[in-house]
Amino acid sequence: MEMSPEEMEKRKQMVLSMCICKSCPTFVEGAEPIGYCFATIGKNPKITAEKGCICPTCPVFSNMSLTKDYYCIKGSEPEQRGMM
Ligand code: SF4
Ligand code: SF4
Repeated sequence: MEMSPEEMEKRKQMVLSMCICKSCPTFVEGAEPIGYCFATIGKNPKITAEKGCICPTCPVFSNMSLTKDYYCIKGSEPEQRGMM
């Protein structure tokens, strides 16, 4: 089911407010916006080295039934699932 642009924006803001990427050892200063798991955000070219991923401990992970990791390097959840 397609989400309205307003609903997408609301969800994005929710993800950004709950995202814990800035506490992650893999995070690189200045690699904004965070919330890499979100469809319209995805990977960030500033982050290239995997040093551990704390996504499974993030509230967004369970709230949005996420299944992947290293969104900053590998791409958003829908991208990693081959949905986009
Ligand atoms: S699951 Fe990972 S990328 Fe998504 S909001 Fe949480 S910490 Fe950020
Ligand atoms: S997506 Fe995962 S690996 Fe990347 S900064 Fe966020 S918690 Fe760390």
